[in-house]
Amino acid sequence: SPSRMSFNYGGGGSKTGRVPVGIGPRRLRIVVTGGAGFVGSHLVDKLIGRGDEVIVIDNFFTGRKENLVHLFSNPRFELIRHDVVEPILLEVDQIYHLACPASPVHYKYNPVKTIKTNVMGTLNMLGLAKRVGARFLLTSTSEVYGDPLEHPQKETYWGNVNPIGERSCYDEGKRTAETLAMDYHRGAGVEVRIARIFNTYGPRMCLDDGRVVSNFVAQTIRKHPMTVYGDGKQTRSFQYVSDLVDGLVALMENDHVGPFNLGNPGEFTMLELAEVVKEVIDSSATIEFRPNTADDPHKRKPDISKAKELLNWEPKISLRDGLPRMVSDFRNRILNEDEGKGL
Ligand code: NAD
Ligand code: UDP
Ligand code: UDP
Repeated sequence: SPSRMSFNYGGGGSKTGRVPVGIGPRRLRIVVTGGAGFVGSHLVDKLIGRGDEVIVIDNFFTGRKENLVHLFSNPRFELIRHDVVEPILLEVDQIYHLACPASPVHYKYNPVKTIKTNVMGTLNMLGLAKRVGARFLLTSTSEVYGDPLEHPQKETYWGNVNPIGERSCYDEGKRTAETLAMDYHRGAGVEVRIARIFNTYGPRMCLDDGRVVSNFVAQTIRKHPMTVYGDGKQTRSFQYVSDLVDGLVALMENDHVGPFNLGNPGEFTMLELAEVVKEVIDSSATIEFRPNTADDPHKRKPDISKAKELLNWEPKISLRDGLPRMVSDFRNRILNEDEGKGL
């Protein structure tokens, strides 16, 4: 297939001249850390779909086997319960490093663990990449820009991050992970790729992870009011998950280290988001106001010119087109939950 043909550098293997794993047709062996999570499981689907071998490493903190169960009988798929904070030995061509809780509710639950995951977990995966000559992609975040003083955010912006706040375990953790990646690149010649991901939504998000899209969609399906934090005038830019996955693969396959912003530039206030949810899911939906959380960034919108130019990537799915695509998955899971409770 065309995608296979464009995919012939062999990860780190082309430089080292390493032969492909196994015998038979050339196939990449790819590790996806955090592959049982929301983004990771969609990425794994794409990699398996084009014929590669995929090993998922996940400790199931926020990930679920259900996200991958449809692959369990596939001989090219393997799932390892493992915490990336501990070292691991594997032979692979590429590493997509996603392991890290992404929702504020989850990453604040045990902040020290979040830092260990970002720092020690990333160090271990970079050590692995160095040892076997694999290409390494880090999923960093728009949170490295903090509460940004530049708008929209370009990759050249260094950010406005509180080092001692409630979000710091995540923001500073990811900033350190980026630093580690660049130091392994410069110091040990590891081929690294850095993606700065902006707010992403879609099927398989945790139902109760507290993120705004999953909250509003689940609340509307349950006929509860949507909880708008603060005055609802803060903005975010929401990207549908398949656009992100395409961007991650394009980044891995290209020659540029990055960092690259991967996000949808369509910017919405939380009140506007609530309007869209109401339009596409239930016209009788209502909102209620709640106090906002600490250090909440006031606005966020990616400048994606760099990814457009160098990766030939841009998102295709608008919020109005993407939201309906997650509704049936959410409805089914909410229904199962209710049945489980005997409701
Ligand atoms: P998620 O919480 O659904 O997935 C994270 C996965 O990592 C889960 O399966 C979890 O069990 C696993 N994990 C966490 N700690 C681990 C550890 N110590 N060892 C092994 N596995 C561990 O989150 P997601 O939305 O899929 O995010 C994936 C990546 O993308 C994260 O690195 C996140 O920081 C980044 N990101 C996501 C968004 C977004 O909007 N979804 C935005 C910016 C960045
Ligand atoms: N590491 C790993 N798997 C490997 C190679 C290394 O988990 O295949 C870990 C290793 O245990 C160490 C980290 O990655 O904690 C960094 O490894 P590196 O070789 O860069 O540094 P060093 O071991 O010299 O500190
Ligand atoms: N938010 C909201 N209602 C909710 C959950 C979040 O209004 O039920 C707001 C939150 O205050 C923030 C924005 O939505 O301004 C995005 O929050 P989220 O946790 O989804 O992502 P992040 O803050 O990491 O961008």
